[in-house]
Amino acid sequence: MQTEYADVIVDITKESLDHSFQYSVPAELAGSVQEGTAVRIPFGRGTRVTDGYVVGLGSKPKIDPERIRPILAVIPGKISIEGSLIRLAAWMKSTYGSTMNQALKTTLPVREKENPETVVTVVLLPEEPAARSLLEEYRNRHHTAKARLIELLLARPGHEAGRPELRAAGITADTVARLEKEGVVLRDARTSRRDPPELAEAGPEEDSAALTPAQKDACEGILREWSGQDRPCLLHGITGSGKTLLYIELTRQMLEQGRQVIILIPEISLSWQTVRRIRSVFGDRIAVLHSRMSRGERYDQYERIARGEAQIAIGPRSALFTPFASLGLIIIDEEHDTAYRSGQTPRYDTRETAITRGRIEGAHVLMGSATPSTDSYYRCRTGDYALFTLPDRYGGAQLPHTRIADMREEMRAGNRSILSRALQDSLRSCLDSGNQAILFLNRRGYTGFVSCRSCGHVIKCPHCDVSLTMHSNGQMICHYCGYRTGQVRVCPSCGSPYIGGFRAGTQKVEQEIGSIFPDARILRMDADSTRSKESYSRILRSFAAHEADILIGTQMVVKGHDFPDVTLSGVLAADLSLFASDYRAAERTYQLLVQAVGRAGRGSRGGEAIIQTYHPEHYSIRAAAAQDYNSFFEEEITGREMMRYPPAEQMLAIHGSAADGQRLETAMLYIRQFLLRARRSERTELIGPAPEAVAKIQDAWKSVLYVKERDEKEVLRLRGLLEKYVEINSGFREIYLQYDLNV
Ligand code: ADP
Ligand code: ZN
Ligand code: ZN
Repeated sequence: MQTEYADVIVDITKESLDHSFQYSVPAELAGSVQEGTAVRIPFGRGTRVTDGYVVGLGSKPKIDPERIRPILAVIPGKISIEGSLIRLAAWMKSTYGSTMNQALKTTLPVREKENPETVVTVVLLPEEPAARSLLEEYRNRHHTAKARLIELLLARPGHEAGRPELRAAGITADTVARLEKEGVVLRDARTSRRDPPELAEAGPEEDSAALTPAQKDACEGILREWSGQDRPCLLHGITGSGKTLLYIELTRQMLEQGRQVIILIPEISLSWQTVRRIRSVFGDRIAVLHSRMSRGERYDQYERIARGEAQIAIGPRSALFTPFASLGLIIIDEEHDTAYRSGQTPRYDTRETAITRGRIEGAHVLMGSATPSTDSYYRCRTGDYALFTLPDRYGGAQLPHTRIADMREEMRAGNRSILSRALQDSLRSCLDSGNQAILFLNRRGYTGFVSCRSCGHVIKCPHCDVSLTMHSNGQMICHYCGYRTGQVRVCPSCGSPYIGGFRAGTQKVEQEIGSIFPDARILRMDADSTRSKESYSRILRSFAAHEADILIGTQMVVKGHDFPDVTLSGVLAADLSLFASDYRAAERTYQLLVQAVGRAGRGSRGGEAIIQTYHPEHYSIRAAAAQDYNSFFEEEITGREMMRYPPAEQMLAIHGSAADGQRLETAMLYIRQFLLRARRSERTELIGPAPEAVAKIQDAWKSVLYVKERDEKEVLRLRGLLEKYVEINSGFREIYLQYDLNV
């Protein structure tokens, strides 16, 4: 296609991203104008000239071609960081299916000047008795707003409150201003550059440790790869093997070369120990970015980056877009974590996007995990990534002794409790010897499957090999293909009547354990108990200080925390994640179990782990108990190949939503018909449409259609055609479509 026109933005601030201007591309510049290219253009009236960035190319004029002016020149020299991030946005747009604006807003986050964050505290001036009589007076005069403010301040330590508390209590700035005029309160404003609370305290000093022979091998191997083929590197090392130590070593080398480093972690509150360690080594050269930061806080960090004060950015996935001018390395810790997939359009995969940014800017990419994703490990197999392994824990530390408790046996022996006899015994002796225990209930992805308590049989889709989800009317549905079947009353495998929805909540577990161990101090950590910003750290700190004996929690307690007094780790129901209704259920289970087992025995006292399940023979449970990643991977990849799931094949999800359920169903069927006509081969398989796991959310119906195909190019071609079809067809006007590739 011959490109004749370019969309250009002149100023990279959030507002102007929506405003591009079209210019024509003179023939002699055609080869050198791309997304991200800096160009000189005529702008405004007369002979004014300015610089801008190309954000899009096309062959159609958007206005009268007579009025479109030509690009004057391409600005010579190395592509700027903004240019690189625009090029990255163009790649994201075409890979994940979004508009260029959505992609630009992701890669070029808030750039406009924010006033430095000021913290305003409202202070009550009179002493308490005087304030109380004032309060009385306002009440009598029905000045309720003023009375409420005084009441609130009186109730607070130091008789002062910040903006958030005032806002929460519904007190307006106007009320504050009026009381300030009357001399009753004072507004005390201070500017601050606040670090996230997790970082206020740095970790212990870490001396530059001498690498063990295995660590040295891995480190040298990675450096060799960088100076050779420079493929993305995957570091597979069990917990405690020294992955973080290698990140630190390689980061140091990059900084010595005057280059910058981005370190990505799944979520800051779950990785604070890692952040603190890195901070203790690099101190003020680090900018910490996280999602709960205000715009002002983020702006402060960007300023430090622009001034060159910060050369390392550490944070969750959006930190990938940190505008470093000579980026040397992107590290992705815990690369298997689902947090690396964005939930907002463009629904990008952080690992793929990091690799693309690395390619554009000449930066290396290093991913690390104790339990690599099947996707990444597969790419090591195919030679797209380079694999490095750290097989042992540092200092010869042993992994805990792991046992599997067969819950079918418990049922047969008449034990209906949530705890197997083995776990009860171990818990008792753990508590008797003054140690701590962690109990896990992994609810991630759990959508309500039906299973038999006698034999463990789970009702699955005959076509897709995933568990069926139970709906309130008793029907069971497959959320890939829409297959449905009525309520099951006896087990089709053993005839037992003990078949039904598999249920378990953390609160119920807490109650039951409280009644078996009335003297134990129990902490619970789940979505309910961690609503507020600091509650994660509070619960973890309290447990680390041994203020409780048992910590019961969902998957969020599994990640990288070191509790030296924990000698027992119990997985209450491995099946919860094993039979989540998606094709990655076994992979998630393996990852969770390995991490859960690794929580025990971090200290010198050794440890023990117990995994409770109705499927003791399942490969992901057996492999996790033995910490045998390779045997897990072999079984898993064979299954993926057989069922044509990623990474063996590409799988595109087309999510549709609409207020009108009937119309949505029709539209999705049209899409199916369209794709059947557009596909080049019958090897391109269409599955669905089917209602989504939660079919109706906030008055919108949801439905999904899947495309399975080996060749990624073919999938992208079909999506491109579909996007055009939908755009010109009025029947899709009230249908909202979203695309997910290989989720
Ligand atoms: P991972 O990130 O793989 O879990 P870490 O890098 O956190 O592993 O290492 C685990 C523990 O062992 C840390 O406390 C670390 O300081 C220590 N450690 C690892 N390698 C060495 C080494 N070569 N010398 C001294 N201590 C080490
Ligand atoms: Zn059965
Ligand atoms: Zn199915």
